[in-house]
Amino acid sequence: MGRKFFTVSFDDGTEQDIRVIALMEKYGIRGTFNLSSGLFGEREEGVERIVNEVLPEGTVKQVKVRFDHNIMPVDQAKEVYSREFIEIAGHGSHHLHQAGLDRAALEAEIVDDAKRLSDIFGQRITGHIFPYGEYDEECLRVMKEAGLTYGRLATSGASKNDFRFKCDRGIIHPTCRMTDFFALSLLQSFIDTKANEDLVFYIWGHSFELDYGTMFGCDAHLEKIFKTAAEAEDIEFVTNGELLEALGK
Ligand SMILES: [Zn+2]
Repeated sequence: MGRKFFTVSFDDGTEQDIRVIALMEKYGIRGTFNLSSGLFGEREEGVERIVNEVLPEGTVKQVKVRFDHNIMPVDQAKEVYSREFIEIAGHGSHHLHQAGLDRAALEAEIVDDAKRLSDIFGQRITGHIFPYGEYDEECLRVMKEAGLTYGRLATSGASKNDFRFKCDRGIIHPTCRMTDFFALSLLQSFIDTKANEDLVFYIWGHSFELDYGTMFGCDAHLEKIFKTAAEAEDIEFVTNGELLEALGK
């Protein structure tokens, strides 16, 4: 008999994380927030983006969305993330595209980031989430040498209905993105799957996506996901670090 784990991973440290954390607390969800230690307090208001919204009947609609990408200042971040159910991981000191950077630049982005975050939040940092999901061999080497044990792809729906944990040289393959239209049905299928071995539902996103105001980019969609997971009988809620520990990775 296996165990069933549920974990979340949110990138960038924007103010909307406060709403995610309130929902996590309400439903007993645990998870990891991936922060860039050199970008605390950076504000970008009224960002516009065209996103593809997949409607239930399968058609894709392009929607123009507008949101604020305001990263919390360090004092606020310290207060917001200092919760027992939250783990902090690195997300690159300055959120650079890391593939192709030389060793000195990578050490500044990966190693220094982990050190600063550890000092700020008073916890051991074991994860580093590559910005844009981009990395090369040198990135993996620097990460490993710094004692960072896991990263994560920025893909969506990679594992479909296969909920066995996929982690390739420390890089986790997520189950889906928060904004995926199939996130809820995939979660239902996870709940209905008998755990003959350890199974994982790993969902990731950016909290600013909640401000898209689309069918799947809104607080109500995330709340449905958390509520559905919380009501299942046999799911264990873990941070990313706790997940790897529980699986012996
Ligand atoms: Zn990011």
